[in-house]
Amino acid sequence: MKRYITLILVLFLLRIPVNATGQEKLVTLTFDDGPSGRFTARLLEGLEQRNVKATFLLCGYRMEQYPKLTQQIYEMGHEIGLHGYSHKTLQHTCRQGAEREIQKSMEFVPAGCKVTFFRSPGGLCSKDVVEVAKERGLSILHWSVDPKDWAIHEASTITNSVVSKIKNGDVILLHDMSDSSVEAALAIIDQLQAQGYRFVTASQLAAAKNIQLCPGREYRRFSS
Ligand SMILES: [Zn+2]
Repeated sequence: MKRYITLILVLFLLRIPVNATGQEKLVTLTFDDGPSGRFTARLLEGLEQRNVKATFLLCGYRMEQYPKLTQQIYEMGHEIGLHGYSHKTLQHTCRQGAEREIQKSMEFVPAGCKVTFFRSPGGLCSKDVVEVAKERGLSILHWSVDPKDWAIHEASTITNSVVSKIKNGDVILLHDMSDSSVEAALAIIDQLQAQGYRFVTASQLAAAKNIQLCPGREYRRFSS
């Protein structure tokens, strides 16, 4: 009962409407590897038109390259997480390398932006990477739905792959790095909104599901 009351309170504070069963269908779209000039700009426009907030796992070297776009992502109310500075894989990375990848990315995050999540390139990270993320107060965000949009260039195939598998609390992995991915992201939103799903950021999804995020812990999806 206490847990239920806490959940309602969190939903109220986040201004998230609750349906009759208290089980609103919520998911989060996550975009890796950006920002990327024209694809991210087009995606942001589409998200705004649909009143959707998403989570962007940004590479440090790209934030450095596109500071205005990075600032725009933040100012439009989306969540920014880290995806390493150089996008090299981190499954064998030592402590010093992990500190460099995470710290150097932090330098390009907009002022005032709270970073909650780190996602390792390819989802692989060494114990040292997890440890450094934990020390920086970051949780590790994986995903539960992966349509492999980086390898498929047909938007309808990507869209169908996600829509056919989706469940309440899922974390969808996409990349704002191609026209087909952006087209698929917007079609996924249109189809799932028609089914009653609402799109929130990863942090909002965790809070709505009453999940207390712990630094260093790994998350694939958020279900209550
Ligand atoms: Zn990546």
